[in-house]
Amino acid sequence: MMEDFPIKTVEVVCLGTSLALSGLFFYIYKKKRKTVDRLNEAPRLPLDGKLTDILNATPGKCLQYVVIEGAVQPVGEPLRSQFQEGTVGVVQKLVLKEHKLVWNSLARTWTDSERILHERVSHVPFNLVGADQASVRVLCPLEASGLTAEIVHEKFHQATYGFTDIIGQYLSGEKPKGQLETEEMVKVGATLTGVGELILDADRTLKLRPPADGSAFFLTPADYEATRLEQEGQAAVWRLLAAFCALAGAAVVLWAARRYYRRLQAKWEQDRLRREFKRLVGASAAGEDDDGEEPLGNACVICMSEPRNCVLLDCGHVCCCFGCFEALPQPTCPVCRQPIVRVVPLYQA
Ligand SMILES: [Zn+2]
Ligand SMILES: [Zn+2]
Repeated sequence: MMEDFPIKTVEVVCLGTSLALSGLFFYIYKKKRKTVDRLNEAPRLPLDGKLTDILNATPGKCLQYVVIEGAVQPVGEPLRSQFQEGTVGVVQKLVLKEHKLVWNSLARTWTDSERILHERVSHVPFNLVGADQASVRVLCPLEASGLTAEIVHEKFHQATYGFTDIIGQYLSGEKPKGQLETEEMVKVGATLTGVGELILDADRTLKLRPPADGSAFFLTPADYEATRLEQEGQAAVWRLLAAFCALAGAAVVLWAARRYYRRLQAKWEQDRLRREFKRLVGASAAGEDDDGEEPLGNACVICMSEPRNCVLLDCGHVCCCFGCFEALPQPTCPVCRQPIVRVVPLYQA
């Protein structure tokens, strides 16, 4: 029976949601934590002539997770900026974004909205170069996280419109603001920190690639320490979110338990009263056994048969029997309509 069940549907939904979110956040936190641990353990190898020897001496000619820092150098022809003369890079990202105002009928205001109309990312093979012209080829650079490119060009093309456009905008609830054109590049010569799997290939070139064991692959203009701290910060945020959701779930359970306990308490109190009245009625019935019928002046005003045996508080009326009091549709005194706060047995000596 739903009535007896101590938890409401809305609480079940809240509990389920908070537990599910808590689990999800904890999972993300665990993954982040693993990334941080791996970063902490990763050896930082100087990029110089000795690196090839180190790899040669390593079984399998592979180091599973290392940190390498070097300057970007294209293997062949670099990519040329479309907008800035003389700028060359190895990764190029061209984005065209549409900016518009959309009528928000809930908030009754125009709110900003943007949409990517066109995006193109291209890259050419490149090396990270260190001392002694030692170089490491970077494989799958677009799979790496943290690879933020420098903005080399940004231009906003303002939308222009006439009178009929304005009417159309009010009908459709959309006002175009214009288009933003950006070009981002990882420039030749920029210093990058790479964290990944380092191998010495059959052709004696060093290559940095996404780790085979699924660990995070980083390629970032920030240095190792900054990357490590950023990942640590993110892990802390996810842990906090997981803890918060778990607490919210616990609060829902406590809330339901508190309500359940209150209901139980009320039921115990009612049972206690009922027993008390039963005892009272039994005693008076036993006492009046030889008298037979009840004198009518003392009869309950509702059923006219049982003796009046309760005092309704706070009004203090003694007008009905306990059975009729329990059957009252509303807890108000049948005589004066005052709310009944408490009911106590009437003891007649
Ligand atoms: Zn009665
Ligand atoms: Zn009353």
